[in-house]
Amino acid sequence: MRDAEFIRRWMLAMAEAVESEAKHLTDLDSAIGDADHGANLQRGFTAVAEALRAELPATPGAVLVLAGRQLISKVGGASGPLYGSLLRATGKALGDAAEADDAQLREALQAGVDAVVKLGGAQPGDKTMLDTLVPALAALADGYPAARAAAEKGAKDTIPLQARKGRASYLGERSIGHEDPGAASSALLITALAEVAAD
Ligand code: ADP
Ligand code: MG
Ligand code: MG
Repeated sequence: MRDAEFIRRWMLAMAEAVESEAKHLTDLDSAIGDADHGANLQRGFTAVAEALRAELPATPGAVLVLAGRQLISKVGGASGPLYGSLLRATGKALGDAAEADDAQLREALQAGVDAVVKLGGAQPGDKTMLDTLVPALAALADGYPAARAAAEKGAKDTIPLQARKGRASYLGERSIGHEDPGAASSALLITALAEVAAD
């Protein structure tokens, strides 16, 4: 069973990953966007980590809702509301149970991904974070290592795609040949989850 502390460890692991990969994420965004993805997520997940160090909500759902709220309020770019919605909707789907098993967490994450689709209107193949999250969620039925592998592959598989959503879509065909920054950061999120689940 996964408790609030587990979700906190996941969020802190993501904050650390964003910290060490910030430059790489910004480099990816400089190729097909406005060179702020690393900084955006750094600002957001630093706020998440600070909030969760100050206060641990009682339930896994409440931890995710708090994290989502931080991202929505602290990040200016498209990724803030999108990641914020992902985490908040995942948290809401968990309800106020004190613990969740892995099947419940997977179902809740699916609700989170659905919220990203609803908010951003993108589909897999549009060269966004969904190209990581959708295959990762499908693979999560086979366990966390499978989800991580699918996430990493999904991110790399955005390289040949033409962006159809977000800032990169303004480049048209010139967006082809570059990894999507949000797909790369989503792989960090799934990797962080797989790592804390393995501990
Ligand atoms: P901004 O584009 O506002 O500068 P970021 O650089 O932080 O914001 O985030 C860009 C990432 O957000 C993209 O790489 C993409 O993965 C994701 N993204 C943008 N628009 C959408 C959308 N409509 N649906 C899903 N993801 C999106
Ligand atoms: Mg950007
Ligand atoms: Mg921006």
